[in-house]
Amino acid sequence: GDSAPYRGRFAPSPTGLLHAGSLVAALASWLDARAHGGQWLVRIEDVDGPRCIAGADQAILGQLQRLGLVSDEPPLWQSQRSDAYAAALARLQSAGTAYPCGCTRKAIEAALAAAGHAPERFGELVYPGTCRDGLHGKPARAWRVRCGTDEAPLHLSWQDRRLGAATQDLTHEVGDIVVRRADGLWAYQLAVVVDDAAQAISDVVRGEDLADNTPRQIHLQRLLGLPTPRYLHTPLVRAADGHKLSKQNGAAPLLLDTPADVRAALQQAAVALGLPPLHAASPEGWLAEATAAWARLVGLA
Ligand code: GLU
Repeated sequence: GDSAPYRGRFAPSPTGLLHAGSLVAALASWLDARAHGGQWLVRIEDVDGPRCIAGADQAILGQLQRLGLVSDEPPLWQSQRSDAYAAALARLQSAGTAYPCGCTRKAIEAALAAAGHAPERFGELVYPGTCRDGLHGKPARAWRVRCGTDEAPLHLSWQDRRLGAATQDLTHEVGDIVVRRADGLWAYQLAVVVDDAAQAISDVVRGEDLADNTPRQIHLQRLLGLPTPRYLHTPLVRAADGHKLSKQNGAAPLLLDTPADVRAALQQAAVALGLPPLHAASPEGWLAEATAAWARLVGLA
């Protein structure tokens, strides 16, 4: 709620080093925490082990340190959190909101094609609900959480501090959410909701590419009886060719070898966030000046 102490977080996946795009989210979350006089935490989202790169977690922490962005508490690794995710799944199972799904990707594609539905939204298949009423003899693969029905679709509305009000029809735009994947890994949606609550995060500040996930996360929070943080999604940084910068399309890792490199990286992120030109000479002075500018930008000062 509004009276909870401010606690923010930066939650990188160690699938590569930080690049100019990820620094925008890191810096914004840090500035917002400082501007509110709150805590800022780092959480390593290594729940998708096969996609992680060995050593990238420590390398990211090293990059953050060079930037002057240091977690106020020891970082949390999601790979250590299986018990908490299992407890959340058990809770959803006993409430009957989670059910086992036996569909392969091919089976989902075939069911969607037969029903004439758009096959994908947000890069994922919209689940047509095949296993909602039972596995019909198929072996269980994944666990899904119910998201409304055709008769009573789940329209979830939420407020983003930068993007304003939005509504998503979870039933038709997403479908029942995977919380435990067919490969046995915990799904990002479940892990992020469990950990944001466990770390008492009051404010999620992250890249706009994740905005579409927010209604799924709010739905899971409600089912688990967890509070909903405030959300602020930061502008995406585009490469010269107009594509979003991401590890997947080979964004260059931040170059942070010299103080001038650090300054240039921070300055570029500040511009992306719409901060005015900053002049302080020392790294600490620059971050303090940026914090004051951020406070004005978001209406705190
Ligand atoms: N681990 C996610 C990523 O690196 C961020 C998750 C979040 O901030 O909610 O894209």
